[in-house]
Amino acid sequence: MTAEFDVAVIGLGAMGSAAVSFLSARGVKTIGIDAHFPAHASSSSHGDSRLIRLGYFEDPSYVPLLQRAYENWRALEARLRADVLTITGVLQIGKPDSKIVSGTRASCKLHHLPYEELDQKAMATRFPAFALDEGEMAVLDPQGGYLRPETAVMGYLNLAAADGAVLHFGERVTAIEPDDAGVTISSAVGSYRARKVIVSTGSWIAELVPQLREHANPIRQVVAWYQPRDGFVTQPHRMPAFLRDEGEEGSYFGFPAIGVDGIKVGRHAHFMEPIDPNQANPPVNDRDNALLDGFIAKRLPAAAGVRVNAVTCRYTMLPSEDFLIDHMPGEPRVVVASPCSGHGFKFTSVVGEILADLAMEGGTGLPISAFSFEAMESFLAQRKMRARS
Ligand SMILES: Cc1cc2nc3c(=O)[nH]c(=O)nc-3n(C[C@H](O)[C@H](O)[C@H](O)COP(=O)(O)OP(=O)(O)OC[C@H]3O[C@@H](n4cnc5c(N)ncnc54)[C@H](O)[C@@H]3O)c2cc1C
Repeated sequence: MTAEFDVAVIGLGAMGSAAVSFLSARGVKTIGIDAHFPAHASSSSHGDSRLIRLGYFEDPSYVPLLQRAYENWRALEARLRADVLTITGVLQIGKPDSKIVSGTRASCKLHHLPYEELDQKAMATRFPAFALDEGEMAVLDPQGGYLRPETAVMGYLNLAAADGAVLHFGERVTAIEPDDAGVTISSAVGSYRARKVIVSTGSWIAELVPQLREHANPIRQVVAWYQPRDGFVTQPHRMPAFLRDEGEEGSYFGFPAIGVDGIKVGRHAHFMEPIDPNQANPPVNDRDNALLDGFIAKRLPAAAGVRVNAVTCRYTMLPSEDFLIDHMPGEPRVVVASPCSGHGFKFTSVVGEILADLAMEGGTGLPISAFSFEAMESFLAQRKMRARS
């Protein structure tokens, strides 16, 4: 006999684990299925730490979602009785007119968020771990900090199980087939019926969502940890987490020494190298190490001790580098949550709520119109027009 559920969630990384938790907490009969064991090394939701910040430089329209995400992270901590979110402040460093600096300032101003501007001299006194060039500055978002991804994902799954969700691990879903009455979900183990399905399969999303085949691009991301030369100035209460604009070279991110491995740094999107999600992540190579060693020696000299670890992980980029959270076109029973272009983890706690809303109510009061299939198509059309002109 085929087991029947209200909602099936396929993929239990960040987005799927939060979705099963929100659904089960509402008393919805939910099954969650993951091909592996969540927060595994081929997912995008492991590696100790993720940045969270409120004055979003990318676009001020993300701020209301972030405000809700902060509330939901604190609610998760309260239920788990565990620390998931730690406030260290986040420094956004660069030239005054760089997108990271000017965009953070603009977001903070528009939403009346507290922030501080620090010039090169003020940075040297206050946060001596960082080396700034003349003319560079930092905007401090005092409400920024870092999240613990593994604690969050496992926490959401544990809460979901406690609230009655059925969770299957090591089971790969091979097909989802919507019809007038529900959706059939098939795997090598069996098949299930649900009224709605949420697809949150990270870098594998295009396998179950054909509309994303051309547009969801998994790429290689590398991060490295260093034992600091000066362990005093790199402690979390002396060194905020940071983003740094490097002009044409893109941007870098990093964290203070929050664990035994020390400081963690990475270059956002690294070398933009496409990867096959069904192959193991390509190993870290000399070019990767040289890039990150060079950055840390130049920009964080106090932290430039010994590199103790470096790993390859994966981002999945959409064309606009935004998110996609919507019903599949023409399929009101299928909800899609993209892996969020390398900056989605901080939103996990609100995306879980949104996915539960979409599955159960057919819509949400939270502002997600910018993350629709229609918005993605419109971005692509505008990009095509720009390329022609
Ligand atoms: C190195 C790195 C640093 C990052 N830094 C930040 C940061 O500082 N701040 C921030 O906000 N964001 C950051 N991000 C982005 C953020 O972590 C991701 O957006 C987010 O974790 C994506 O989660 P997900 O649930 O979509 O995907 P995943 O965590 O990859 O989960 C997808 C799951 O689906 C499962 N699955 C796939 N196919 C199937 C199938 N057919 N059947 C069943 N299960 C399936 C997989 O096994 C996997 O567990 C970073 C990402 C990386 C990699």
